[in-house]
Amino acid sequence: MYRTYRSPYERHCDCRCPVHHGHLRTHYTDPGCHCLATCASQPMTLLAPQIGGALFLNWHGTLWFVPALEPGHWDWRYATPVDLGHPVDPAADLIADVLHQTHAELLPLIHRT
Ligand SMILES: [Zn+2]
Ligand SMILES: [Zn+2]
Repeated sequence: MYRTYRSPYERHCDCRCPVHHGHLRTHYTDPGCHCLATCASQPMTLLAPQIGGALFLNWHGTLWFVPALEPGHWDWRYATPVDLGHPVDPAADLIADVLHQTHAELLPLIHRT
């Protein structure tokens, strides 16, 4: 299982989302998307109930924020990159670093033989 790891950006949705199930997810803001945080296509995600949403890095390493819709579900229509002026911006560098570093630290575990 570990040896067949592929990045979430290369994995097909497996969460029964009506739009993406069985497909690659190329846009987080696709209309009608109901992908879960546990979807195979979802990158490592930091749940942040304090600010009513979740944070993750996209394919290019840009930090994104998605607001929570109801418990366990996300309002992908309003998912947005965290850039200058975004409420999360003051903490964005720290969070992006944590996600980057955690991913890097986990890689040796994933690819062990
Ligand atoms: Zn979806
Ligand atoms: Zn999905």
